[in-house]
Amino acid sequence: MSARTKITYATMRADNEELHRAYERAVEKVRTEWLGHKHPFVVNGEPREGDGYVEERSPVDREVVVGHFARATREDVDEAVAAAQAFFPEWSRTPWRERVQLLRRAAETISERAFEYAALLSLEVGKSRLEALADVEETADLIRYYCRQMEEHDGFQVPMEALSEKERNRSVLRPYGAWAVISPFNFPMALAGGPTGAALVAGNTVVLKPSEQAFLSALKLYEAFRDAGLPAGALHVLTGPGESVGDALAHHPGVDGLTFTGSYAVGMSLYRSVATDRPKPVICEMGGKNPVVVSARADLEQAVEGVVRAAFGFSGQKCSATSRVYVEQPVYDRFVELLVERTAGLKVGNPLERDTFTGPVVSEEAVARFERGVEDVERAGGRVLVGGRRLAGGDLARGFYVAPTVVEAPPGHRVWKEELFVPLVAVAPVDSLDEGLRLANDTPYGLTAGFYSKDPGEVERFLDRIEAGVVYVNRRAGATTGAWPGMQPFGGWKASGSTGKASGGPYYLQQYLREQSQTVIEG
Ligand code: NAD
Repeated sequence: MSARTKITYATMRADNEELHRAYERAVEKVRTEWLGHKHPFVVNGEPREGDGYVEERSPVDREVVVGHFARATREDVDEAVAAAQAFFPEWSRTPWRERVQLLRRAAETISERAFEYAALLSLEVGKSRLEALADVEETADLIRYYCRQMEEHDGFQVPMEALSEKERNRSVLRPYGAWAVISPFNFPMALAGGPTGAALVAGNTVVLKPSEQAFLSALKLYEAFRDAGLPAGALHVLTGPGESVGDALAHHPGVDGLTFTGSYAVGMSLYRSVATDRPKPVICEMGGKNPVVVSARADLEQAVEGVVRAAFGFSGQKCSATSRVYVEQPVYDRFVELLVERTAGLKVGNPLERDTFTGPVVSEEAVARFERGVEDVERAGGRVLVGGRRLAGGDLARGFYVAPTVVEAPPGHRVWKEELFVPLVAVAPVDSLDEGLRLANDTPYGLTAGFYSKDPGEVERFLDRIEAGVVYVNRRAGATTGAWPGMQPFGGWKASGSTGKASGGPYYLQQYLREQSQTVIEG
């Protein structure tokens, strides 16, 4: 059997031995050949050192040095944007079919390197092997999807009506120019590569500023684009802190559009401040406080499995992670009993190990956020039903491990409102489906939501009323997580997203293009 079984976030388990061996070989290779080196960033294909190097360590084991990464300066930001602007005329005039061909090659290159890249994601941010393989494959599939969109729309050139036979009218979508992409730590490949792929295939040039917790993954992603033949002027990568390099890039007057994925606080401040002198497209994909409602007419075992996978997959560090569950009173006790039992049985530990489901959280700060959340619940009279503590036995002492946690908390407590981004889920009984829906919507966020019921009327009611961009009903593979390009477009409503057009969906790519109406009178 080939190792190339397609892994998505909905893959519950993989029995393909060849796949596991390929991943394990890749871990060895990445450990011995990729980690611990110095990495300049890249402008116009040239390595640059900025004003010095910063060390990055692994959340799996703090003794593992991922690498030393150069810190870009304000001048580097200026030069990267200038380089992107300079190459824009050539790249935008490259026939779109050639761009599609080249980006498809980039997607293939990413897929070919899936095991090495996944091993790196495990070591750099702590993803389990299936989550890491899915992140890499999603990156390639996002790029493939945008290539397909370009083709399905025939390069976005639409003939229009005319007043006379001499008049030739058409609508053409054309790229904006130099596009900035700022990406988060939690999907280091997919959320750097997806927006970059969309911007590039549309004909924009790109400056990418990845998360400081995942620099090596971004630089490896860059190599895949480069090795697939992307010209040096089309993509530039700056490493450095968000507050300086990210801020300077986002606000740079030469940047024509921005895609930011990350926290609400940063995203909203950029959304307010980026387009000061002229309007600019600002695509912000932000946080979530994703609810699940469980009806008295649900398959409880299915609901528990979906909640566990969505709350504790990648340690609750998905923007789509389930963090609140409202359960109809008659089935509440049974649901909680099953949830606690299933949670207590999860394998937590080193994500490189085959049977680990929940690995570390990304930083000491995340551990502290988790501990504060638990303490606050207890202080307010809530209860920890399972988990609730740091795990520091044996080798785990060298990383950032916490136990998957289920709590009951008083109404209005901050665990019902704030995105904690750790493996902690709050549960509460509700008197009716209407109350569950009201509480589910009672949040500024609107990213994902889940529902469990066997009653078609209830399902309709949920779909009609829920305020979220991505919703799932009766999904065992993940109550609120696990969207895939071309299948579940992924984007937030309300405070979770700025555009209402979701990535990996049919309306996304157009955001990287602006319309030109062309009228030519012949003769
Ligand atoms: P973050 O906001 O801390 O950082 C995201 C990126 O912004 C990083 O590259 C960071 O360096 C940069 N940055 C930080 N401060 C900046 C500033 N002042 N100016 C410009 N750039 C700045 O987020 P994170 O911790 O990396 O990621 C987790 C967050 O991302 C969560 O809130 C999660 O919900 C959200 N997220 C949302 C989606 C989505 O599609 N809606 C997907 C993934 C993650």
